[in-house]
Order: sequence, then C-alpha cells, then structure tokens
Amino acid sequence: MREAIELIKNAQSGVVFTGAGVSVESGIPPFTGAGGLWNKYDPKFIELDFFYQNPAKSWEEMKKIFFTCMGQARPNKAHEVIAQLEKTKKFQGVITQNIDGLHQAAGSKNVQEFHGTIHQMHCIQCARRYDTAQVDLTQNPPVCKCGGVLKPDFVFYGEGINPRVYSESETMAISADVMIIVGTAGQVMPACSLPLVAKQYGTRIIEVNLQPSAYTDGVSDFYFEQKATAFFAEVEKYL
Ligand code: ZN
Repeated sequence: MREAIELIKNAQSGVVFTGAGVSVESGIPPFTGAGGLWNKYDPKFIELDFFYQNPAKSWEEMKKIFFTCMGQARPNKAHEVIAQLEKTKKFQGVITQNIDGLHQAAGSKNVQEFHGTIHQMHCIQCARRYDTAQVDLTQNPPVCKCGGVLKPDFVFYGEGINPRVYSESETMAISADVMIIVGTAGQVMPACSLPLVAKQYGTRIIEVNLQPSAYTDGVSDFYFEQKATAFFAEVEKYL
C-alpha cells in the first residue's frame, strides 16, 4: 500500500478509471453479476432497435431502474477522494463507465463519461437537447416540444461510443503516468481496452477490486482486494 500511495502522491498526470463497483456503495446495483440489474430486468429494453420500435415500453422500464434508483443516489467516499485528486492537479480527471453522474456530484470536473449519462437527453426527431431535470418524466414516453420522443444520452446496446469521448479518454489514458482502476471487471468492450492502451505507454496501474479481474494478472502493477471506499479513505489520509 505504501508504494502505491507514493505513486499517487507523486503523480503528475494520473487518471482514475471507474466502473459499477464505485457506485454500488452508493446503492446503485451493477448490471451484471450477483444482484445485477440484468438478473432482474431484460436488457433488451435498452437495445437501440427495441427502443426505436417500442419507445413507450422501453421508457417504462428505464424509469423504474435508471431514473428512480440512480436519480436519488449520493456520491460516496470514493467519488469524493477521486474529485480531490483532480483538485491537487496530480490527476487529470476520471474516465467512468458509470452513467449516474456521481463523479460530477462529488466535484470532479474532467469526467469522461464513456457510456454517456442519465442526466441529459435529446430528441430523436430534431436533436434538441434537454437536462433530465427539465423533462416531465410522468409522460410516457417523454417527448420534445416538437413531439419527438426523447432518448437518454447513455449508450444503448447496439449504439457506438461518442467519438469525442472515446478519443479524449484514450488521450488521457496514454498520457497518464498512473492509472487507478476501480470497481470494474474489465469485460465491457471497448472501454476495457483503456488500461491496456495506458500500459503500452508505460502507465503504472493500480487496481482496486473485490475480486481479481481481467487486469489483475499481466496489467496491474498493484492489486488491492478491497472496497473502493476503503481504498480511497486510506488514500485521503496522505493527500
Ligand atoms: Zn424535437
């Protein structure tokens, strides 16, 4: 741990790469694994084709999961310390696979939301953009002023990653001297390739997960088997 803390303290362009495990401690269930959303719900309702054909049905399910549970969640110690790392200027910011907006809620400024966000949406007819907070979610499906259906700005199955976010994330990963991987098993393409890219460019990798991941052997220089909040509470002592 001491060696990893030294790396973090001496970082000049660090990056944090987060997944569902960070938000679990804020009460947001992960998609896969034990207690995962896809054990309870059918992922087809956020397939792009299904959404276009059945927007009302898709929205009914999305509201239950994303806009009730995620909308009420609060950031935890991990989100808070990650935001502090950025304030020290030793870290560039965070690349997250989460769509809950909790990094921003904790004060992070440079947040690459690799899979988009629940906090914004756009009209599929006229592309007008909305903050989710302005949208009347009691309508089903929620619609634009023009009458077009609104689609949340998170990445659906069958939808590509926003090219700007992809390229910004890659640039951050490549230029990072230290990357902390937290709460992700490294199984969702193409997000999972970012630590591999970083590694190729000489980035030191610190991994924090509850169980070994695709990174543990071969990619990670340090592996801490613990909760994200426990790890970052320790890091905070040395900031
Ligand atoms: Zn519209």
